Amino acid sequence: QEYYPRTGRWFEARAYPSEEGLAVYFRDITQRKRAQEEIEFLALYDPLTQLPNRRLLTDRLQHALATQGRSGRYGAVLFLDLDNFKTLNDTLGHETGDKLLQEAARRLTEALRQSDTVARFGGDEFVVVLADLDGVAAAAALQAEAVADKILAVLTRPYQLGEHQRHMTVSIGITLFGSADDSVDDLMQRVDLAMYQAKDAGRGTTRVYSPEMRASMQARVRLEAELREGLERGEITAHYQPQFDMAGRLIGAEALARWQHPRRGVVGPGEFISAAEESGLILALGETVLREACARLADWAARLPAADFSVAVNVSARQFHHPGFVEQVRRALEETRAAPQALRLELTESLLLADLDDTVARMDQLKSIGVRFSLDDFGTGYSSLAYLKRLPLDQLKIDRVFVRDAVSNPNDAAIVRTIILLAESMGLGVIAEGVETEAERAMLEEYGCGALQGYLLGAPVPAGEFQHFLPDGGGSVPPHSL
Ligand code: C2E
Ligand code: CA
Ligand code: CA
Repeated sequence: QEYYPRTGRWFEARAYPSEEGLAVYFRDITQRKRAQEEIEFLALYDPLTQLPNRRLLTDRLQHALATQGRSGRYGAVLFLDLDNFKTLNDTLGHETGDKLLQEAARRLTEALRQSDTVARFGGDEFVVVLADLDGVAAAAALQAEAVADKILAVLTRPYQLGEHQRHMTVSIGITLFGSADDSVDDLMQRVDLAMYQAKDAGRGTTRVYSPEMRASMQARVRLEAELREGLERGEITAHYQPQFDMAGRLIGAEALARWQHPRRGVVGPGEFISAAEESGLILALGETVLREACARLADWAARLPAADFSVAVNVSARQFHHPGFVEQVRRALEETRAAPQALRLELTESLLLADLDDTVARMDQLKSIGVRFSLDDFGTGYSSLAYLKRLPLDQLKIDRVFVRDAVSNPNDAAIVRTIILLAESMGLGVIAEGVETEAERAMLEEYGCGALQGYLLGAPVPAGEFQHFLPDGGGSVPPHSL
């Protein structure tokens, strides 16, 4: 028998019959009791943040599912994933990372009601369970989203760590639960999917699970499988879009991936590049395009009088940062005997900024082989002069949105002019993409742009048709067909 007197200690009482009646012995078992509590705590709570752990969360969810089902009201599960925690943890050290997690846990607990559950699910993942929301699904979803907004607000406030201030964003997936036939597993699968969709949509956003998400996920999985087969069967090739200088002389081509699909015909990269990136297939795909482009380059360059013909190849972040990338480029050049100086790799700003030190090192390695670089979609990203100066670039490529709007919009015209001046001042070449009209061409010429690419001058065509752009290829420009 145990009891808890005002002293705050635990005693065990035992009674024995004795000659005077009943003898009661008390034994102080406080220590044993504390140890037991400690063990229970460790089994159910996260020692770092003091929040319920995954196991206790599962228990609570099970309970919530059972009771919510009967109440006719909805509940919601929110899955939170800190977006840049891993980077912060790696750069600032684990101790600081721990502090950050503790602070995030504190803010979460403060922002929520006593009746809500906040749990630490794993590394930088938290789960919130909201009970007793509205009985109408749409209204319950709005309530859950309002809570998610509040969470976003508190978690994105700056974190003071020593003398540094840090910022974090968080992606939140939400799913409702109501009917008793939901299982904890289903729930966690749904909310996980919603969280990934939130991440996909850009960091710091919220997504509520919908059945369509599952369908689009399944479609994505199917697409990946098909793309894998397509790659193996050699269905991925490149089309080539000509590039001209202002005098109308052919100076190069951009290789653009195309999927010769057995049923659907020619499929553009907009439909498969992101799937390729996510699945890692981009490595094989990128190598295919790179090799083919180098082979064409060697062939075409030999047939051109001017030495300055180049072929541009788009490179994804994942491909560029892959340890074998430099070697891949070196081999493609060697085996095709293409001149390295005539290969232009098109990189994007987001790719460069992902890991600036690694980027610069890699670019220098490639540069030493002779390869040149063009900064694609210029103007749409961060465009900071500070990093531009650090990179061994050769060319800026003005994004087509500016070209398209510059004729009608003075702001875009100013951007185009600034990019051209900037390129000039840094000793870089400049090419405009997406040139579709004579008015656009004339404006670019007036601003001093160096080169042009776009439907006005030639759409991307299969390699066989690209011959027509070469001086010995028959001379006539092919119809503007995609
Ligand atoms: P991007 O690098 O900005 O490529 C230019 C896109 O603009 C191409 O679309 C091209 O067909 C299109 N375009 C060309 N001229 C015009 C024009 O006058 N007007 C308009 N509206 N569009 C024009 P595409 O071929 O669908 O490629 C889309 C994107 O896919 C590319 O954008 C590039 O980011 C990516 N991509 C293409 N091939 C590859 C590849 O081999 N590897 C990687 N990583 N990405 C690729
Ligand atoms: Ca490009
Ligand atoms: Ca572009």
